[in-house]
This record gives sequence, structure tokens and C-alpha cells, in this order.
Amino acid sequence: MLKRPSILVLGAGYGGLSTVVNLQKEFGADAADITLINKNDYHYESTWLHEAAAGTMKPEDVRYDIKDVIDSVKVKFVQATVEAIDVEGKSVKTDNGVFTYDYLVIGLGFEGETFGIEGLDKYALSIANVKAARYIREHIEFQFATWSTEEVKNDDRLTIIVGGAGFTGIEFLGELGNRVPELCKEFDVPREKVRVLCVEAAPMVLPGFDPELVNYAVGQLESKGIEFSIGTPVVEATPEGVNIKKGDDEFEFIKAGTVVWAAGVRGNRLIEATPIESMRARVKVDKDLRAPGYSDVFIVGDCALMINEAVNRPYPPTAQIAMQQGVQAAKNIKALVDGTDTHTFVPDLKGTVCSLGHDDAIGDVFGGKKVTGKKASFMKKMIDNRALYMIGGAGLVLKKGKFNVL
Ligand code: FAD
Ligand code: NAD
Repeated sequence: MLKRPSILVLGAGYGGLSTVVNLQKEFGADAADITLINKNDYHYESTWLHEAAAGTMKPEDVRYDIKDVIDSVKVKFVQATVEAIDVEGKSVKTDNGVFTYDYLVIGLGFEGETFGIEGLDKYALSIANVKAARYIREHIEFQFATWSTEEVKNDDRLTIIVGGAGFTGIEFLGELGNRVPELCKEFDVPREKVRVLCVEAAPMVLPGFDPELVNYAVGQLESKGIEFSIGTPVVEATPEGVNIKKGDDEFEFIKAGTVVWAAGVRGNRLIEATPIESMRARVKVDKDLRAPGYSDVFIVGDCALMINEAVNRPYPPTAQIAMQQGVQAAKNIKALVDGTDTHTFVPDLKGTVCSLGHDDAIGDVFGGKKVTGKKASFMKKMIDNRALYMIGGAGLVLKKGKFNVL
């Protein structure tokens, strides 16, 4: 009898979980040994982390138990932190044992990128995972609580700086626009004492996105008291705030009690400790999602890099693509096991919707259709619900879905 193939999937984010639920469909109960390894016994919706970080959503609502969406007859789940990947020896070292494989899927996700800017690692907070998001929420609440009780008021602690006006920065600002008035009420802080400032290096907010939609977003956020400093990169962070560059030799130091760094992502550092070639821990994968030179290693999600040949630039790392890659990786592993050809992964991009709080959004969808306001917000919630459906079906949508659609 032929040995059953052993398939090891690392990470239960969008890419890893999508791979696993699709491997379950591809293989019968006794046809393969499928193991999923993840740091936590839950998955978190990275696309909702800005809500948990601002405090407009509870951290526990952003996550769900992995055992609720996998078939335990077909898949063994191991809660463990991956420490090293040996692609030559075909094994993975974790804090809960060593695992070998015939096929490996790496879906270990993203980390915040600080580009080596001094002080950011130490003094800025990053919306990187659900624990980090909860920490940001509590840090902001702590600043408000401290201000309301201290005798000599330090107004700087009420300044929140958001570094980066990409999609993460803008979505977080959208939540803060709604959350700050609530915090002021809760902690008896006058609204005019609170400053929320977004600092962006590029000459525009959401660089590259539709200018009309960007104008709408900036107008809506400014109407909630959010300020923008554009074309002024953050060059340093200290315990007191950030230094921004305003001209050739012109700098300004802005004091702040909270600095949230949302200025880009990289892949998981563990990739850089393997011989697989990568750029900022992202691997330029072959067309069928395999790592170049390693025919038994697939990479999905933010650790994978693919060039959009139409514009000769990498596709942005998104949940949308990560989930689609999971479907293709599962099919291609089945093809290898069956001795047939693997297929090229072709992303099916449905557009981008960026939320501006629970009741507002902007979107460029279905090949150039622009949407704003409640209609766009409704679409964003449907996209969020669809992601749940793709992993856990209708049951998961009913349990965790967003139904506050007006
Ligand atoms: P992740 O979602 O990062 O999951 C990685 C998993 O691996 C996690 O479960 C983690 O715990 C686990 N892990 C990490 N290290 C280890 C280890 N050493 N050992 C074991 N397990 C480990 N994209 C969209 O398409 N639409 C959106 O609206 C959108 N909104 C976003 C909003 C925010 C605030 C952010 C931050 C991102 C958003 N994105 C969005 C991007 C999207 O979240 C990412 O592209 C997506 O999460 C990538 O999925 P992934 O599976 O590669 O990794
Ligand atoms: P990003 O790379 O898209 O944006 C980072 C922003 O930070 C850029 O505007 C950049 O100019 C700016 N920046 C870089 N260095 C800076 C500096 N020193 N000072 C000030 N600003 C600086 O990163 P992101 O927003 O974290 O998004 C990561 C990925 O997640 C992207 O692929 C994005 O498309 C995706 N995402 C999608 C959505 C959505 O679809 N709704 C939401 C969030 C994130």
C-alpha cells in the first residue's frame, strides 16, 4: 500500500485556513495526513483588527475557535509556535515538537514593517494581531483615564498619531473618528483636548487610489476632527512622540501619548531564516504557488509575492488574494499527489472597499464602479461576511457575521 501523503499547513490566517478547508474537500478521510499548526487555538480576522484596536469592536468578537471550522476526522490541529522551517530536511521545529512533511504550506502571515526607522520598534504600536490590537485599545483608554485623574494635566497624552495613510491607517482613523467622542464622554475629557493626526510620507492619502474617493474619505475624516500631515515622513520615534520631515532640512517633533504605526507590512521573519529567496520575507512564488527550487513547499497569503503583469507591480497583500491562494494550493497539492499537472493561480480581483467607521466607506469595485457612504459600508460588511462563509459556511456567518447594516 502507498504511504499516505503528509501535508503540513503553518498558520491559521486567511491563507492557511482556506488551504485546510479546501484540502478537506480534496481528500477523503483516509487519503492524507493533514496537520494544521497555529500559535493560538483561534483564528482572528486580520481585516477587522482596526476595529478591535480602536475599541469599536470587542477583541473576542474578531476571533473564532479553529476547531469550529475544521473537520477533526480529516485534519489534526496542533497549537504550537513555529520556531524554524527546515526545507532541506523537510521538517518544522515548534515549541510543541518537530513535524515532518511531504508537502508544506507556509501561511504565517504579515508583520508590521518599520523600514529600520529609529525608535519605531520600541515606541510605536502596530495593529499586527488580536493581542496587539487589544493592547492599543487599552493603551488609549489608559491615556484618557490618566489624564482625567492627574492633577497637572498633560494634554500631550491625548494626542494619537497614526503613521501611514494606507488602507490600514485610514480604516483605523475611521474607527477613531467614532470612538474618540465616546472616550471623551466616558472619561470626562473635552473633545478639543484630543488630537488625532495622521502622518503620511507620500504626497497623498491612499497613494494610487481613486482621487475622487480619496477626497471623500479625507473630507469625512476631517469632519470628525482628524488632521492630516501629508508628504511628511516619520523619521524617528521616541518615548515622547515622533519626528517628521517637513522639508530638506526641516523637521518637526510632535508629542503624543500614542503612536500607531500603520505604514506597511512584510512577511513573517521565519522565512528569512530559510534558504528560500525572499524580499522583506515575501517569496516571489512560482505560478502554481510553490517556492522556487522547492517543489514540495507552497506559500500562501502575505508571505507570498506575485507580480501583476498588467502593471508590472506586485499584487498588494490582501485577505482576498490569500483566501483564493488557499483554494489553489489545496488543488495543486491534490494534483501532485495524483501525479497530474498543477495549475497557475490567477487572482480574481473584485475591487477594494475601505471602511471609514461602521457606517461609512469608499469603494472601487467590479472594475471601476465607485461607491461611497452607507452603500459602500454595506458592501464592506457583505465582503466581511463572505470571508466567514468561505471558511466556515453559513453557521460561522450566523455566529460571527456583521448584520448592523444601516
Ligand atoms: P494572517 O492573517 O496574518 O495569519 C497568519 C496566521 O499565522 C495567524 O493566525 C498567526 O497567529 C499565525 N502565526 C504567525 N506566526 C506564527 C508562528 N511563528 N507559529 C505559529 N503560528 C503563527 N485585506 C483585504 O483583502 N481586505 C480588507 O478589508 C483588509 N483589511 C485589513 C485591515 C487591517 C487592519 C489589516 C492589518 C489588514 C487588512 N487586510 C485586508 C490585509 C489582510 O488582513 C492580510 O492580507 C491577510 O491577513 C493575510 O492573510 P495570511 O493568511 O497571510 O496571514
Ligand atoms: P500600505 O503599504 O498599503 O500603506 C502604507 C502607507 O504608509 C503608505 O501610504 C506609505 O506611503 C506610508 N508610509 C511609508 N513609510 C512612511 C513613513 N516613514 N512615514 C509616514 N508614512 C509612511 O500598508 P497598509 O495600509 O498597512 O496595508 C497593508 C496591506 O493590507 C495592503 O496590501 C492593503 O491593500 C491591505 N489592506 C486592505 C484593506 C482593504 O482592502 N480595505 C484594509 C487594510 C489593509
